Amino acid sequence: MEFSLETAEIFVPDGLPVEEALARTTHMAVGAHQDDLEIMAFDGILKCFQRDDKWFCGVVVTNGSGSPRGDLYKDYTDEEMQVVRRKEQKKAAVVGEYAAQVLLDYPSSAVTDGSSKAPMEDLVKLLKVAKPEVVYTHNLADKHDTHVGVVLRVIEAIRRLSAEERPQRLYGCEVWRDLDWMVDADKVVFEVSAHENLQAALLGVFDSQICGGKQYDLATMGRRRANATYYASHSTDVATGMIFAMDLTPLIAGPDVSIRAYVREFTERFAQEVTGRLMRLQES
Ligand SMILES: [Zn+2]
Repeated sequence: MEFSLETAEIFVPDGLPVEEALARTTHMAVGAHQDDLEIMAFDGILKCFQRDDKWFCGVVVTNGSGSPRGDLYKDYTDEEMQVVRRKEQKKAAVVGEYAAQVLLDYPSSAVTDGSSKAPMEDLVKLLKVAKPEVVYTHNLADKHDTHVGVVLRVIEAIRRLSAEERPQRLYGCEVWRDLDWMVDADKVVFEVSAHENLQAALLGVFDSQICGGKQYDLATMGRRRANATYYASHSTDVATGMIFAMDLTPLIAGPDVSIRAYVREFTERFAQEVTGRLMRLQES
């Protein structure tokens, strides 16, 4: 499969020919950086782990060259960091038994520049071959420009597909901003209590980020635990891990649905819930 950049790569952990490896995909996650998939899309990884009938395909859009670095990695150049991060993403693909790991290798600027069509066109090619039933990506209220750039490209790519080629579900997941603020009725809840060891292993391979100065492994496991405990205030914990997502499926049904208006509905329902409670309690 040919992508726009010659340095793009598809890694297949079990060595199957690339097209065959991609064609078995049922769950796909598209993230901006190396480690985003493991933070946001563990639901898909878990659903496919040790299965012959379900396969997870990971897609990382950028080359990760701009990441902060410390400790062992403090003197690494951007080029050396790219090599390390690519290697770490492949380690995660082996640990998580992915069908394939795609590395599109774009600089962040190619994703944040809305006029750059190449990342979207690569995603169209991939989606046509992999035909995932479910796609996980960043949520539209994330606070990292590159993440929001990626979800916009994913929506655009899926809208280019024919109705039969489109995935059945698209979920926007938590990385740089959690989704606890959404009203409960809006939350898509993925219960991820199982295989904490696998979760820890998948997050732990990204040593250049963690040892490099950001404790994403502890923070991510902590968020999953906090989501589970704070989800329902009047019942006992039924899960030890939860990931929240925003359902983006209505946005892929057609080009006519406004992305901005759709996200505003979520923030407005949140605002109504907050002010509604205050009014109720102040008046009584
Ligand atoms: Zn990221």
